[in-house]
Amino acid sequence: MTALATRSLFRVIPSVAASDGAGVKLRRGLGSTQTMRHDPFLMLDEFFSDNPEDYLAGFPSHPHRGFETVTYMLDGHMRHEDNHGNQGDLGPGDVQWMTAARGIIHSEMPQQSEGRMRGFQLWLNLPGREKMKPAAYRDIPSAQIPVIEIAPGAKAKVIAGVIEGGGKDAGKKAIGPIGGLSTDPRYIDFHLDAGAVVDAPVPASHNAFVYVYDGDALLGEKRQPVPNRAAGILSDGEGVRIEAGASGARLLLLAGIAINEPIVQYGPFVMNTRAEIEQAVADYQSGALARG
Ligand code: FE
Repeated sequence: MTALATRSLFRVIPSVAASDGAGVKLRRGLGSTQTMRHDPFLMLDEFFSDNPEDYLAGFPSHPHRGFETVTYMLDGHMRHEDNHGNQGDLGPGDVQWMTAARGIIHSEMPQQSEGRMRGFQLWLNLPGREKMKPAAYRDIPSAQIPVIEIAPGAKAKVIAGVIEGGGKDAGKKAIGPIGGLSTDPRYIDFHLDAGAVVDAPVPASHNAFVYVYDGDALLGEKRQPVPNRAAGILSDGEGVRIEAGASGARLLLLAGIAINEPIVQYGPFVMNTRAEIEQAVADYQSGALARG
């Protein structure tokens, strides 16, 4: 591992119970208020339930404009359909990367009436100059997302970004399937056995946070604890040292280049100005948003 692990824990944002779509119960780990963002990340929702009443209502037809959504399933089965004719089935380990940009209207509905539904939806902002570019959509099956051993007892699934292997994967490199975006996002899912330690690379140019969804983790040289189901905002620096607690840890590491522009959000529209939000609402009502 070559990255310098100099970042420390700057702030903990506990997730809060929230409801979205037609009444899906979830935990909002970032974005529960407008100050709880971490540029370029607007929101991170975790949906996790064994009770169908919490998820059956799903997310019926709704619009987006001005940003990207990234859905990562751990358990369960969701179906996506949008007004541009895209359809996708998301199963365990699959990712859907949707660039709403100037407009998409879609539904995200569970395809199961029992069992566990678990996963994440991340909202990643777009810079103003890209908010009105054409919409794009990509399904990435789990089999196309590399998993690499990075240290004894430590594995990483790389959705976006790059990480070097260690242990039996020493000398190898895993490169995530998503690239070429101006925020240069990094999205890595770590599975750490109890006590495992990794030095995770994060470019110095990026803002970064972790979200611990199973177990607990200690961050940085000072071994600062990040509680379970909480976002840990990282200080500036290079990479970050992550140590799993006594029961191991599963966590997401997210990083991206800050956009540093004003944000005006109205529900599923995220623009730079109030006038642009009013235009988005008008375009949705007139059907112009649907034409993308
Ligand atoms: Fe949506």
